[in-house]
Amino acid sequence: MTDTRRRALVAALVGVLGASVGIAGAGHVYLRRWRRAVAWFTVVIAIGVGLVFAFADPAAVSMSDPTALPTEVTGPVFALLFLSTVDAYYVAARGRQDDSGPRCPRCGGELDLQVAFCPWCAAELNSRPIDVEKIELADLDGAETK
Ligand SMILES: [Zn+2]
Repeated sequence: MTDTRRRALVAALVGVLGASVGIAGAGHVYLRRWRRAVAWFTVVIAIGVGLVFAFADPAAVSMSDPTALPTEVTGPVFALLFLSTVDAYYVAARGRQDDSGPRCPRCGGELDLQVAFCPWCAAELNSRPIDVEKIELADLDGAETK
């Protein structure tokens, strides 16, 4: 099992554990994707509170007994918790691309995997930046620039 895959599985597991106590974004916290974790946490809390006010009596709601909530509240919240876990898995499964993805060897800008030049400084790359290790600038030190 590769590191990326193990990270993805652990992120999903942590996400499930967090979701089981009503906390979205736990898997993202494990991945140190703080902004995404906060976004998920905030969205789920906001929607959950909104649904409680819409479908239940907020004064009668006990956080210790979520089964007392109507399904109009629990359904969407559980769906969101599930989605946040799936998102954590895919964020991890994509691996390091987001954090330290292919970078332009000239300007350090993030590279688009679809194009063979840097969108930031227009440096031509002699290989598509699929493999980060193999990115090199084309025609800079080559024979054509004598
Ligand atoms: Zn560049």
